[in-house]
Amino acid sequence: MTNLHTPTPQQTEENLEERLRSQLASLNDHSNLRQLPSILHEERDIIVNGQRMLNLSSNDYLGLASDIELHREFLDTLTPETFLPSSSSSRLLTGNFTVYDRLEQQLAEAFGTEAALVFNSGYHANTGILPAICDARTLILADKLVHASLIDGIRLSGAKCIRFRHNEYCQLERLVEEQHSNWNSIIIVTESIFSMDGDAADLEELVHLKKRFPNVYLYVDEAHAFGIRGDNGLGCAEEQGCIPDIDFLVGTFGKSLASTGAYIVCKQVIRDYLINKMRTFIFTTALPPVNIQWTSFLLQRLPDFRSKRDTLKQTSQLLREALKQKGYDCPSVSHIVPMVTGTSSASLLKAEELQRKGFYVLPVRPPTVPEGTSRIRFSLTAAIRMEEISALINSVIIS
Ligand SMILES: *Cc1c(COP(=O)(O)O)cnc(C)c1O
Repeated sequence: MTNLHTPTPQQTEENLEERLRSQLASLNDHSNLRQLPSILHEERDIIVNGQRMLNLSSNDYLGLASDIELHREFLDTLTPETFLPSSSSSRLLTGNFTVYDRLEQQLAEAFGTEAALVFNSGYHANTGILPAICDARTLILADKLVHASLIDGIRLSGAKCIRFRHNEYCQLERLVEEQHSNWNSIIIVTESIFSMDGDAADLEELVHLKKRFPNVYLYVDEAHAFGIRGDNGLGCAEEQGCIPDIDFLVGTFGKSLASTGAYIVCKQVIRDYLINKMRTFIFTTALPPVNIQWTSFLLQRLPDFRSKRDTLKQTSQLLREALKQKGYDCPSVSHIVPMVTGTSSASLLKAEELQRKGFYVLPVRPPTVPEGTSRIRFSLTAAIRMEEISALINSVIIS
C-alpha cells in the first residue's frame, strides 16, 4: 500500500474544520442555520429575552407536562427509597426493574394485544425494529413523508425500500400486487398522523390491502396520535378499530404522554424476537425506573383525559378553518397545523412577526420539509383556549 497521498493528520483536521465552517456559512446564507434557542418555560408560556409568549410549538398535546397538580400527585407516590433515578444497566443485564414489566402489561391490556415492549425513545424504536426484523428477502414500502427516524431505520435495515407517494394507496396497491410474489415479506411503513402536514393515513384501507396478501405486514408510527385519538386515547388505530390488524404498532411517550420512551404493541413472538435481536434495545441503558413510573401513572389516567382531547379537537378545527378561509392550502386534519410560506426567509419573517405578537412558533425549513415548502408549524395543546386561538387568528391570520 502506498502512502503517497495520505495527508498528514494536521492537514486532515484543518480541512475538516474548514469544510464544516463553510457549510455552516452556506446554511446561514440560505436562512437554514439552526441554533439552540435560549428559552425559559413557565407552564404554558415560553420566555425569550424577557418576552413572554404562548407556546404554540409544543408536543405536550394534552397539556400534561405543565400540569402541576399531576406532578404533585405523582411525587406523593415517591419516597427516597422508591425514587430510582437510574436503571444503571441494559434491561437484559440488571436494568429490568419490575416497573418495566408492569408498564408493558398495562400497555398490552389497554391495547388488547398479546404483548408490548418499551424502548428508550421513538427514535430508538424506529431505528431498531426494522433492522431487527428485515432480511435480504424483505421489501419495505414506505410513505414518502415518514419521519427521519423511520428513514434511518430503513437505511440501517439494508432492506430494499420503495417509497410510495404520500397517502397514495393506488400506487401502493400496484406496488404490492407487482412485488408480493418476489419477496418473502413486504412491510408497509407509515405514520398515522403525519408530523409536518398534520394529515392522516387511512389505516382501515391499509389493513384492507394487507389482508389480501399473507406475506404483507403493516408498521404504523402513532407518535402524533397516541394520547389524543380514540375513545381511550390509544391513537388512530383505536379510532379506526384496527389495533389487532397492525403488526407493528409503535408510539412515543415523549409527546402527548408528557414523558419519555416509546412502545410497540404486538404479538408475543415479535416481542421475544426484538429482545434478542434489536440493537437499540439491547445495547443501551434502560430508562430510569422513575421515568417508567411516571409513564405508567399517566397511562393509567389516559382514558380520563377525554375532555382535553375534545378541547384540542375544537381549537385545532378553528385554526384550520381560519387558514383555509384565508386561502392557505391546509391538508391538516389534526392539531398539527401548517401555514406554508414557501421560502425559508418568508417563514423566518412570519415566525418573527408571530413572536412579536406573543405567539411562540418556529419556522420549519429544509431539510425537515421539502425545498419551497417552508412553513410555520402550529402544534396545539389541550391547554390552549378557544379565545387564544381567536386572538391568534385576528392578529396574524386575518390581518
Ligand atoms: C417525535 C417522533 C419520533 C421520535 O420519538 P422520540 O420519542 O421523540 O424519539 C418518531 N416518529 C415520529 C413520527 C415522531 O414525530
